[in-house]
Amino acid sequence: MKFFLATGNLHKIEEMKKILKGNNIDLISKLDIGDIPEVVEDSKEFKGNALKKAREICEYTKMPTLADDSGLVVDVLDGKPGVYSARFAGEGATDKENNKKLLELLKGVPVEERSAYFISSIALVFTDGREEIFEGRCYGSIGFEEKGEEGFGYDPLFIPKGYERTFAQIGAEIKNEISHRANALVELKEFLRKGLDD
Ligand code: IMP
Repeated sequence: MKFFLATGNLHKIEEMKKILKGNNIDLISKLDIGDIPEVVEDSKEFKGNALKKAREICEYTKMPTLADDSGLVVDVLDGKPGVYSARFAGEGATDKENNKKLLELLKGVPVEERSAYFISSIALVFTDGREEIFEGRCYGSIGFEEKGEEGFGYDPLFIPKGYERTFAQIGAEIKNEISHRANALVELKEFLRKGLDD
């Protein structure tokens, strides 16, 4: 099965390819066809943005298209940065700037109040208009300083539940087993398996 993966984020492409490896799924991306149109993410919900990206890029590629919209939800910040995770410190902000802003907002917040989760909403849009949404979460907490070199985004600050190290420290192999994106893709694989059995 061939799907187009509608994202400009090279980390997402790498992670999703690794997670789906061995499932007879061929992920085509901008790495194969060149740049794809920019999609304005103007929904206040992950689901809405994922569907919008998948719809517009499916129209462009004429291929069944997957799109992930994801972010970090911090309980003590009333769910921020949420859908604004990528541009938390402003339009075009770097991961470093976003992490710095998050740490500043959490200054003085004790360990027991630093709970957070990542969420990944993955939309699948077919050329005949059929649409599916898959969602995955990964619960954990926000550390007091950036730790680790791997991954991207908030990985150096996010400590998944049951671990003492950040996503950026535990590395891709474990992250790709327990992450929000891995959990959403479990649902996608289940959907595809069921579809094939019917
Ligand atoms: P999107 O491209 O609009 O979905 O923005 C996703 C943003 O959420 C990224 O730029 C990161 O800041 C954050 N994010 C999503 N998934 C992850 C992850 O797996 N690790 C760290 N940060 C993530």
